Amino acid sequence: QGQIVCVGMGMILGAHMAPRCRSYIEQADIVYSSCHHLMQRWLEQLNINSHSLQPLYGKYKDRRETYAEMIEIMLASVRAGKRVVGAFYGHPGVFAQVPHRVVKLALEEGFDAHMEPGISAEACLYAEMNIDPGELGCQHFEASQFMFYQRIIDPYGYLVLWQIGLAGDLTLTSKISTTPQRQLLLDKLFEYYPPDHQVAIYESKTNVMEQSRIEWFALRDLVDMPLTMISTLVLPPARQMPVDRDMMASLHKITPRNY
Ligand code: SAM
Repeated sequence: QGQIVCVGMGMILGAHMAPRCRSYIEQADIVYSSCHHLMQRWLEQLNINSHSLQPLYGKYKDRRETYAEMIEIMLASVRAGKRVVGAFYGHPGVFAQVPHRVVKLALEEGFDAHMEPGISAEACLYAEMNIDPGELGCQHFEASQFMFYQRIIDPYGYLVLWQIGLAGDLTLTSKISTTPQRQLLLDKLFEYYPPDHQVAIYESKTNVMEQSRIEWFALRDLVDMPLTMISTLVLPPARQMPVDRDMMASLHKITPRNY
């Protein structure tokens, strides 16, 4: 009976992967991965039957087509009765459509399928930028989706925009965003944040020998910032949380005086 487990390899090569994920990889009949080159090499040492899905990406190819092909390849091995592992960098369930979909489809077809968490870019961001999402709250959006739809922004908490390097790309290929696309994103953000609001590009190191990129700049300069496929934009709160006076009054009314 075929099965699939989608595992997260964490962000830092050789340092983040949980023992459980490692053991799934080592015991798999076949491993498919969508990791960068060095992680792929490491995977091949853990399991000789490891195959990269990266070549399925194309500069002018719709990402949705690539994702459908990845899913089909993994499901075909599951249907052939193999123990399959899908290995993804970071957390397989964070801003990653393929692992969620392949697990869901495999379950629908009656196979065993589940996900094993990993250390995501989000986890590294909190640690390295000294942010506790529970302190003021934190919203996360995929940058293009944030542009395509009307969302409610909470400027009292953090706002994190993922895939900022691809913001506003209607073709859904893998092209870094243009100045006009970024300007449109800025127009939307300027409704909530002043142009000189200090924001940061975060790029976690993927190797212990590297330094992470935490680059602060005025929001208006986003158009000129060098961005890559691994850039994440962090906007700290722009205003102080106002107290909900009505709620506080109501709570005082129902709270016994001698509590
Ligand atoms: N599953 C991944 C995770 O757990 O972090 C996220 C994959 S998502 C398709 C790709 C986006 O994640 C990038 O555009 C960027 O926003 C963020 N990302 C990926 N690598 C990163 C890194 N090294 N540092 C910061 N953000 C990163």
